[in-house]
Amino acid sequence: ALDLQNIHKSYGSLEVLKGVSLTAYDGDVISILGSSGSGKSTLLRCINLLEKPNQGTITLGGESLNLVPGKSGELQAANRAQLESFRARVGFVFQNFNLWPHKTIIQNIIEGPTQVLKISKDQAISEAEQLLKKVGLLDKKDAYPDNLSGGQRQRVAIARALAMNPQVLLFDEPTSALDPELVNEVLAVMRDLAAEGRTMLIVTHEMRFARDVSSQVVFLHQGRIEEAGTPEQVFDNPKSARVREFMASHR
Ligand code: ATP
Ligand code: MG
Repeated sequence: ALDLQNIHKSYGSLEVLKGVSLTAYDGDVISILGSSGSGKSTLLRCINLLEKPNQGTITLGGESLNLVPGKSGELQAANRAQLESFRARVGFVFQNFNLWPHKTIIQNIIEGPTQVLKISKDQAISEAEQLLKKVGLLDKKDAYPDNLSGGQRQRVAIARALAMNPQVLLFDEPTSALDPELVNEVLAVMRDLAAEGRTMLIVTHEMRFARDVSSQVVFLHQGRIEEAGTPEQVFDNPKSARVREFMASHR
């Protein structure tokens, strides 16, 4: 499980997260919805300290990240090695892929396993090939990212995250930079991962997808959880007028 408790984050005087708590149990798929600026990306980025929270606790697989006060009121990792092992267990898929342009697809995928997990190159390659097969891109293994479509690049980014064998996968609007005709190939891969029982937190505006795959839906508003529940509750029967309005305008 991934457990977040009372996460606060400010940028200067702007308080972006005002005490967010949520738990993703193993196999949970949690969709995080909310309007622009509500703090969705900041919340995901706080999980592996790409942004440093000012307050809160982060626990993965029963192990809490050891945080101590640092400069300007932010928390920082007390132990660099723990942070690195923590990050290796949290897969992150971004909106803009973040592949290394000068490495081939297979090189992109084996980088983490060989450098961080110290897996042998041969084994990393054979695992990477399995993952490329899974996302339907084995024939592109020696291509460069520039020669792939956006949807293909995003599928590589997912394979790269999976290659680290993470306990939880975080997705920040993985399809919002894609041409509409490329969205479904990426969502299909994510549906497979959900069906396999992967634990995932997904920031998305794909409402149909979120409703289909989520075990929980969390709606953020101005840095707080406005409403959380099953997809049936949050999509079909929201208590909050704000959530109702959001759903009505995102059909
Ligand atoms: P979107 O749907 O547009 O991606 P979001 O819900 O992901 O929005 P965040 O990116 O988390 O929102 O931003 C929340 C708030 O924090 C916004 O007001 C944003 O301007 C502010 N913010 C985010 N990053 C920084 C930063 N590095 N410095 C200052 N303010 C920031
Ligand atoms: Mg965002």
